[in-house]
Amino acid sequence: MKIVYPGSFDPITLGHVEVVDRALRLFDEVTFLVASSSTKPSFFTFEERKDLIHSVFKNDKRVKVEVASGLTTDFLKKNQLRFILRALRNSNDYEYEKQMGHYNYSLNNEVETVYLFARPGKEFLSSSGVKEIFRHSKNLERDLSEFVPLEVIKAFIDKRDLK
Ligand code: ADP
Repeated sequence: MKIVYPGSFDPITLGHVEVVDRALRLFDEVTFLVASSSTKPSFFTFEERKDLIHSVFKNDKRVKVEVASGLTTDFLKKNQLRFILRALRNSNDYEYEKQMGHYNYSLNNEVETVYLFARPGKEFLSSSGVKEIFRHSKNLERDLSEFVPLEVIKAFIDKRDLK
C-alpha cells in the first residue's frame, strides 16, 4: 500500500523524517507531495525542497517526491491512491488537521487520512522555528544539528554564502 505525505517541507526537518520512517513500517511507499504554504512565503524553492528530500532519503526506493500543482485529493485520484499521511504535534495541529481531513474527505470520499502523533522530543520542532534559528545563529552546524538533517544545514549554509 502507498501513502501520500503532503506539506510545505520548507525545509524538511527531523520531525518529518521520523514520521516517514514510522510510516514506512505501515506502508510500502511514501510520496512527499511538496506544496506551497497558504500562510507564509517559501524560503526554499520547490526544486530545492524536492532535492533536499531526495538527498535525505538517498537511495530508498520506497520514498518518492512530487511537487503539487492543485489539490492533494486530485493528485490522489489521478494516481489511484487512497491514503494521506499527516502528523499531529499539539492541539493546534489537531484542530487544523481535523478541518483539513473533513475537506479532503468531502472532495474525494475514497480518501482516508492517517494521522501519526509526533514523538515526544519532536513536538516542538517546526520548519518555521528552524528558519528562525537560521536567521540569528552564528554557528549553523552547532545550532541546527538537533533539528534538521545535515543536507539541510548545508543548504542553509549555501543560502548564507550567497548573501
Ligand atoms: P504544512 O504547511 O502543510 O503544515 P509542514 O511541512 O509544516 O506542512 O508539515 C507537514 C506535516 O508534517 C503536517 O502534518 C505537520 O503536522 C507534520 N509535522 C511538521 N513538523 C513535525 C514534527 N516535528 N513532528 C511530526 N510531524 C510534524
